[in-house]
Amino acid sequence: MSECIFCRIARGEIPAGIVYQDDDMLAFKDINPRARVHVLVIPRLHVASLEDIDESHDSLMARIMRRLPQIAREQGLETGFRTIINTGSGGGQEVFHLHVHLLGGGRLPGFG
Ligand code: 5GP
Ligand code: ZN
Repeated sequence: MSECIFCRIARGEIPAGIVYQDDDMLAFKDINPRARVHVLVIPRLHVASLEDIDESHDSLMARIMRRLPQIAREQGLETGFRTIINTGSGGGQEVFHLHVHLLGGGRLPGFG
């Protein structure tokens, strides 16, 4: 069994404020929110980062991307949202299970 913290959240072993889940993915509240809404969207499948994506992940990645606007709307973000994917130590990635930061409401971190 993976000791990866996000795999453990996906398996229900560690509590998290889950706001959306299906067979492919999970969305839960970031433990240290940087905006009024700050949700992490992860594949259930353990993929460490974008560096590890290959053709076998094409449809999974597409399903995650297509789901983001729905998750944002359900969090009350009617006028839009920001997504950030940190990749590798040079990209500021701290948890090595691929995740999309979905942010919105008020001032947002990065890119003004
Ligand atoms: P990264 O820097 O890897 O892109 O982002 C990792 C994010 O995961 C951070 O924003 C951090 O606050 C969040 N995080 C780390 N550990 C946990 C946890 O155990 N539960 C939740 N909900 N978020 C976490
Ligand atoms: Zn994992």
